[in-house]
Amino acid sequence: MFVLPGDFLGYVEEYVPGEGVYEEDGKLFASSAGRVVVKDKKISVESVKKIPEIRRNDIVIGRVVDTRNSFAMVEIARKKGDDRALRYYDRAFLHISNVSDGYLKNFESGVRYMDIIRARVIDDNLRLSIKEKEMGVIRANCQICGAKLERERDKLKCPKCGNVETRKISNYYGKGEW
Ligand SMILES: [Zn+2]
Repeated sequence: MFVLPGDFLGYVEEYVPGEGVYEEDGKLFASSAGRVVVKDKKISVESVKKIPEIRRNDIVIGRVVDTRNSFAMVEIARKKGDDRALRYYDRAFLHISNVSDGYLKNFESGVRYMDIIRARVIDDNLRLSIKEKEMGVIRANCQICGAKLERERDKLKCPKCGNVETRKISNYYGKGEW
């Protein structure tokens, strides 16, 4: 059971108050938000893990959910160094000028819809950059057959249909870690 501060939990005759629980007039209430845990006769509220906040300079991993002419929208799934999952997916923006230091023919030669990218947050409005070597696409699927692309030097190649694609590839591509 999930409770909020002030929620009624039971009576002192039933339980011994533990962490996150306070007593008032023989009644027990939650003092913090969380999950109710009863062990022996002790009742406590285990606080819910805090949602990590994303700040400038953080490294995040996310999925490209939309691409336009000059920017892509990215759903952030994780923040590096923090195992806590985000409760909802924060939306971040990747502008074409923050994809590569070199010339980029078009946005699709940098990232594409549904790619997984490793990116650095460059401001507090969740704008991203993947210019650094460690940043960029870490997983991508073939645009033709959907198979997972494999890295071949500076290109990505489909092991199934042989299709070759271009991306701004991260050093972490295909390594299964980030
Ligand atoms: Zn393919």
